[in-house]
Amino acid sequence: MTRETWGKVREQLRASVGQNNFSAWIEPLEFSDLSDGVLTFLVPSVFMGNWVDRYFRESILTEVNAGGESVRRLAFRVRDSANDAHDPQPAREAAPEPAPREAAVSLPSFAQTGAKLDEKFTFSSFVVGKPNELAHAAARRVAEGGAVSFNPLFLYGGVGLGKTHLMHAIAWELKERSPEKRVLYLSAEKFMYRFVQALRDRDMMGFKELFRSVDVLIVDDIQFIAGKDSTQEEFFHTFNALVDLRKQVILSADCAPGDIEGMEHRIVSRLQSGLVVDLHPTSYELRLGILQSKCQYFAQQFSGVVIGDGVLELLAHRITGNVRVLEGALTRLFAHGSFMHREIDVDLAQECLRDLLRASDTRITVDEIQRKVADHFNIKLSDLLGPKRNRIYARPRQIAMYLSKNMTDRSLPDIARRFGGRDHTTIMHGIRKIDQLRVDDRQIEEDISMLRRALGGHEAPA
Ligand code: ADP
Ligand code: MG
Repeated sequence: MTRETWGKVREQLRASVGQNNFSAWIEPLEFSDLSDGVLTFLVPSVFMGNWVDRYFRESILTEVNAGGESVRRLAFRVRDSANDAHDPQPAREAAPEPAPREAAVSLPSFAQTGAKLDEKFTFSSFVVGKPNELAHAAARRVAEGGAVSFNPLFLYGGVGLGKTHLMHAIAWELKERSPEKRVLYLSAEKFMYRFVQALRDRDMMGFKELFRSVDVLIVDDIQFIAGKDSTQEEFFHTFNALVDLRKQVILSADCAPGDIEGMEHRIVSRLQSGLVVDLHPTSYELRLGILQSKCQYFAQQFSGVVIGDGVLELLAHRITGNVRVLEGALTRLFAHGSFMHREIDVDLAQECLRDLLRASDTRITVDEIQRKVADHFNIKLSDLLGPKRNRIYARPRQIAMYLSKNMTDRSLPDIARRFGGRDHTTIMHGIRKIDQLRVDDRQIEEDISMLRRALGGHEAPA
């Protein structure tokens, strides 16, 4: 393969990955060489190589091999880097590991049965907010490793809300506080794998001994074994044996014990006998907190990248689901910042994250808010927007102003224009008024939360 053939393949990739991805990730790759089935590129940063390898490896291999080459693997070398010039390090090895890698399980030994813990998933990197404070407190308590007070601890919640993070944090903390304790963390899938393997190797004794010899057993995503009868049965025995021995068991699932489909009734009730806590969907404040904390972490890796005012707020406002997606967005911004050498301002962020923002675009307009508020209070839209100062109009008007500020990205002057060309200080006054009233006027608080729900909004900036 030559630089030219790579140029041709690259054009194919433009079509298969899309223009945005192409300019961000494929275009900056510089062909270096191809030997022994390893295609090497020069890249601007370790991070970028890692990213491309993770997300575009398949596409690249497919296109390159379709062009008649036989490439097995990609490698990345950082270009123009003084310390790398003589001792090229493959980017994929130098880069931070993005996801926990599971240990190999060829031997039935303790260390190899568990999964590797992710170094980033500790209590200190876990941001606590209203939606997760209970789960966090319970996890902390269990991690103290004192007398077992609730067993099992059952954590549940939607994808990407921090279950795995908390479980790793517990394991790290226990290892630190009581290194003599045998703490085993693994996914339910891995549990099943070990079980099937033990059946095959006729080593059920070894299997049982192993799992019954732990001090703390942490099993992630147990919804996985529901419906898998013999695995479920064995899990139940293991679990009972440990609880009877007063050994701590910590489990997670994507829903409450009673809602796991295919989970046997007696197991469900045993699961419910401990402490069941859920991680709620994130709030705006929590998302912003997580972004701020990740920002500090990334800032060390990408020195010189500047994230402008309002960018984190934009992300927290518009990407409302999975925290993993939020992190992905931030990573992408830092990556862009680092190879474009430009401050990431709101416009650039919007451009760069267009796909993500579109997917979670539940943007509410001032117009919609005004109509909903008028409906809610049974007044005419013209009165809501008009000059009447009577409280039956003025209060709803202020609420509409308040919601417009909190549920949209509009600036005060912009909102003022949409409220019949009022002055922006009037809007500010209205918002402040509602802020004050909310504190002890239950009715207003209720009206606001009803309206928010009706508008399909998530918790908005405070
Ligand atoms: P789950 O296991 O619930 O699907 P994870 O624990 O894998 O979710 O979390 C997904 C990602 O989001 C991880 O990178 C994790 O570090 C991050 N994350 C989730 N919640 C928080 C939080 N409260 N503080 C910091 N990071 C978080
Ligand atoms: Mg998980």
